[in-house]
Amino acid sequence: MELTLKRLQEYLNEKYTLLKPEDLKNTQRYFLKLVEEVGELAKAIRKEKRMKDDKIKGTIEEELSDVLYYTAMIANTYDIDLETVFREKEKYNSKRYGYEFIIDKK
Ligand SMILES: [Mg+2]
Repeated sequence: MELTLKRLQEYLNEKYTLLKPEDLKNTQRYFLKLVEEVGELAKAIRKEKRMKDDKIKGTIEEELSDVLYYTAMIANTYDIDLETVFREKEKYNSKRYGYEFIIDKK
């Protein structure tokens, strides 16, 4: 099954509704976690640690996934649909910087 941003956000909502409903709207917690994960990503990039043979711990792949996770968690606390806002921001950027908006061209 394809994993879209929409499904990723739904999944995290389902997961936290089951496991940690008290934290569903804890924006500050997820923002701090995001900053922490960005730091871990910086370290993985500095050390050029890439995933090999399914070993993900401490790699750029792991930390990018963690950054996406907490970005989606923050969006969920505000009921923001990341697919919608990414599209809108790219539309805005395409006008501002004068390039063709091609997201829907495929
Ligand atoms: Mg991490």
